[in-house]
Amino acid sequence: MTTPRPSMLPAAVTYADQGWPVFVLGRTKRPVANCEPCAQAGPDHDREACPCLTCHSFYAATTDRNRIVAMLAAVPDGLLAIRTGTAAGLAVIDIDPRNGGTLDRSLMTPTAAVATGGGGWHLYYRHPGHPVLSRPLTGAPGIDIKADGGLVVAPPSLHPTTGRPYQWAGTRPVAEMPPALIAAVAADPPMTKPAPPRSCTPARVSSRAGEAGGISNPAALLAAHLAAVARAPEGRRRTTLYGAARGIARMVAAGHLTTTEAWAALTDAGHTADQTDRDINAAITGGFHAEGVPT
Ligand SMILES: [Zn+2]
Ligand SMILES: [Zn+2]
Repeated sequence: MTTPRPSMLPAAVTYADQGWPVFVLGRTKRPVANCEPCAQAGPDHDREACPCLTCHSFYAATTDRNRIVAMLAAVPDGLLAIRTGTAAGLAVIDIDPRNGGTLDRSLMTPTAAVATGGGGWHLYYRHPGHPVLSRPLTGAPGIDIKADGGLVVAPPSLHPTTGRPYQWAGTRPVAEMPPALIAAVAADPPMTKPAPPRSCTPARVSSRAGEAGGISNPAALLAAHLAAVARAPEGRRRTTLYGAARGIARMVAAGHLTTTEAWAALTDAGHTADQTDRDINAAITGGFHAEGVPT
């Protein structure tokens, strides 16, 4: 009843040889569980420098052939994935038609492309050099950018729900991002309305510093939200991230940080807590919507 699995090694080596760091995800696209010491480690643990073979999702990505062989052996039913962003020199546009994503030819010029096993498309572009956050493309439902702080599942992995392989579509090389697309991925989401008048009520401000409506120290409040995510025990991480997203959405609404800064902070916190990009995006989008703050 099991589908014969394609060998990941030749593809993994091909990617690594062109400078794309690779790693493995679990069969269901979730990060491989961290080892006990890494699972217990606090937010000060340096995930980038951690020597573990498969801990911390894309932080384990490597171009070292021996490590790749060992990684694939350690997670024999895992999915092959590529760390995107400056680490690979890649920015990937992820089009998910199930969520309304469509190919916009005015933005998305021809380039190397993967047909995901789930009916979507990954368009591989050269990273433009300046930071490009991994997040949904503003104003384009069903389209995500996978760049800094991101990852893509790569061919010949089998899609976890359909069982169909991710496949390269054609043989185009990875192209430069066209200027219109660079502008689109850099665009800040529309600013939210200014702080509601209740924040001017002196009684609230003085009585409950740190609460929404009277944020006396935004930096400390933001740090507290992010620390809660980092400290959350396994099993509580998704709901904690959602709660932090709601709290930070209120800070965005009050004008203490931009939507882009909120996405970056929450995405990084989610990765610290070993959440998938999909779960992170869902938590942020859900938290912002619950607070009536546009993403
Ligand atoms: Zn570890
Ligand atoms: Zn570690």
